[in-house]
Amino acid sequence: MILQKEREQVVEYGRKMIELGITVGTFGNVSCYNPQENLMAISPSGMDYFKITPEDVVVLTPDGEKVDGERKPSSEYDMHRIFYQKRPGINAVIHTHSVYATTLACLHWSIEPIHYIIAYAGADVPCIPYVQFGTYELAQAAFDAMGNDHNACLLGNHGLLSCGPNLSYALDVAQQTEFLAQLYYNTRLAGGGVKLSEKDLSVVLGQFGSYRQA
Ligand code: 13P
Ligand code: ZN
Repeated sequence: MILQKEREQVVEYGRKMIELGITVGTFGNVSCYNPQENLMAISPSGMDYFKITPEDVVVLTPDGEKVDGERKPSSEYDMHRIFYQKRPGINAVIHTHSVYATTLACLHWSIEPIHYIIAYAGADVPCIPYVQFGTYELAQAAFDAMGNDHNACLLGNHGLLSCGPNLSYALDVAQQTEFLAQLYYNTRLAGGGVKLSEKDLSVVLGQFGSYRQA
């Protein structure tokens, strides 16, 4: 089976999203890119994460052409492949419908830097307007909002998108962004949290450049 390791990881990380409670039912999706093979493995559309096997995971080129797998790929494959095409170093993308991130997405609230962990995702977490799900237009809008220096964004009236050099990192960003969304919502309701100064934010952005193990 081609891309066996990546397919196994897609299965594993889909289940982790459910175990962590950061997506609902069959929604959300997971992918992982192998730069040597120039191929990506992506979760099948609309399947129970605990029923997905590595054979169900679909292998695509970054241009969106199917290379292996019987299943229909995630309807959001454009939102994954655009990062593998256009952002070197990004080898994993995760999309969730976690509750607080999606709450903010429904309010069209971007997350401001009120906690230092924001720097794991970027200087802020932008929220884009609603764009029809499963379209290249949604992929492009999310990609543009994230640029080269954001690892997460909120998809208006929809959910959360995160990315990273591997699935462990992308999942961590998704989980931390959900935590930040909860803090941001709570602090806004309490009158507004205190934002980090530009200086403190720039220091912590630098610190996160070398956070985690090499
Ligand atoms: P898929 O099941 O096709 O991956 O779609 C889920 C989703 O969250 C669409 O935005
Ligand atoms: Zn979705």
